[in-house]
Amino acid sequence: MDRRHFARLSAVAMGGLTLPGELAAIVAGWALPGGLKGEYAWSGLPPGAPTALDAGTAAGQALAVNAARLGEHMRTLSTFGRNASGGIDRVAFSDANIDALDWVSGLLAEAGFSPEIDFAGNLMARRPGLDSDLPPLMFGSHIDSVPGGGNFDGQVGSMGALEVATTLAAAGHNTRHPLTVAIFSNEEGGKTGSRALAGEVERFELDIATASGFTIGEGLRRIGGNPERLNDARLAPGSIAAFLELHVEQGGVMDSDGIDIGVVEGIVGIMRWNVTVEGETNHAGTTPMDRRRDAMVGAARFVDVAHRTTRAIPGRQVATVGSLQAEPGAPNVIPGRVTLTLEIRDLSMEGIERTFDAIREQAEPMAEEAGVSLSYDRFYTSRAAPTEPRIRDLIEASAHDLALVARRMPSGAGHDAQSIALLAPVGMIFVPSVRGISHAPEEHTEEADVVNGANVLLRTLLSLDQA
Ligand SMILES: [Zn+2]
Repeated sequence: MDRRHFARLSAVAMGGLTLPGELAAIVAGWALPGGLKGEYAWSGLPPGAPTALDAGTAAGQALAVNAARLGEHMRTLSTFGRNASGGIDRVAFSDANIDALDWVSGLLAEAGFSPEIDFAGNLMARRPGLDSDLPPLMFGSHIDSVPGGGNFDGQVGSMGALEVATTLAAAGHNTRHPLTVAIFSNEEGGKTGSRALAGEVERFELDIATASGFTIGEGLRRIGGNPERLNDARLAPGSIAAFLELHVEQGGVMDSDGIDIGVVEGIVGIMRWNVTVEGETNHAGTTPMDRRRDAMVGAARFVDVAHRTTRAIPGRQVATVGSLQAEPGAPNVIPGRVTLTLEIRDLSMEGIERTFDAIREQAEPMAEEAGVSLSYDRFYTSRAAPTEPRIRDLIEASAHDLALVARRMPSGAGHDAQSIALLAPVGMIFVPSVRGISHAPEEHTEEADVVNGANVLLRTLLSLDQA
């Protein structure tokens, strides 16, 4: 038994100490027919009749999610837009997306939350807190998918948030802060919903066609938003106490290194350049090798320089040449010009610029030797979104309380939390993706990891509520 496996069982056992009914459900996994309906089943709640446990009491900290119910919700969600390959086609604004939103809304209402769709098409479900002067704690993710997507990207965070909401309601646990569960619109097609909350969606985006066949503007109307009033969906900085998102890693680091919980340090920033390598077009048969200014040779060396330079710098920055065109592009012509893209990602924008400067410096003597010249044109920048250090600590402490193995790590992919970071302190919790596969039907996260993630979300939320 490896360390990670042992830690998981310990976490299960600890959960079982406080909620004996849970233990059997977790250990038995999610193959239970029909799921278990124990004392924490949401269908049996007395709505609006909480027993007002004070936040921060031992009782509050001992809360744990209901693994069987969470599994059942994951399974039900996977039926909305399921395709023949076992994945889902639940692209934003599709009928399957709308049906799934209706279903989640109903469950949130049963948990005592008041769901509504805002102007940006986000499902926002709110519950008052004991102190109405406090801004809300927000948590959630997205339920739209890429075409031919899997059943975990977005779903784990959304069903985890639903489960936390339901667990709190079932336990009659009132928080000091108001709570908002957010299911953001069109994450996969440009993070429309979360970016609208930060006032980042531009007019022209509304005319962009989406995989649903509708434009973003049409789609927002379809799910109950109002593209004309997108500005009114904006939230003022400071209007949210904090935002938490649980998500699958979508990479293979946690799975291969045996990590249960990823404490996300931030969503990396991205810069992209078009790099033009200029040489001289000439005849491939009559030009001797020592008289060539071959732009393709310059490009090949540039790719190598970019790779080696980025590896040599301490840190976790990554650089990629992902596209390359040679001109004129014929088998019997020495290319006179090659255009390629250079993309660099890092948690700090300064780190990106440092890496770029180093690559450019290293590339200069190489270009001279190859008889080519290099020019750079930056065409894309996406700002890095660091998470709040205080929330990282709380996530890590929650994981340790559950005897889970946690590691701090950057997120190489974009997430809704990145947009919300523009207006509130955010925290992100990662759970492992089996073999790092994502945006494909084979995407998978083990049941125990989904439950662990939801429990860490719950504990972190309760810790933030005391802060
Ligand atoms: Zn996602």
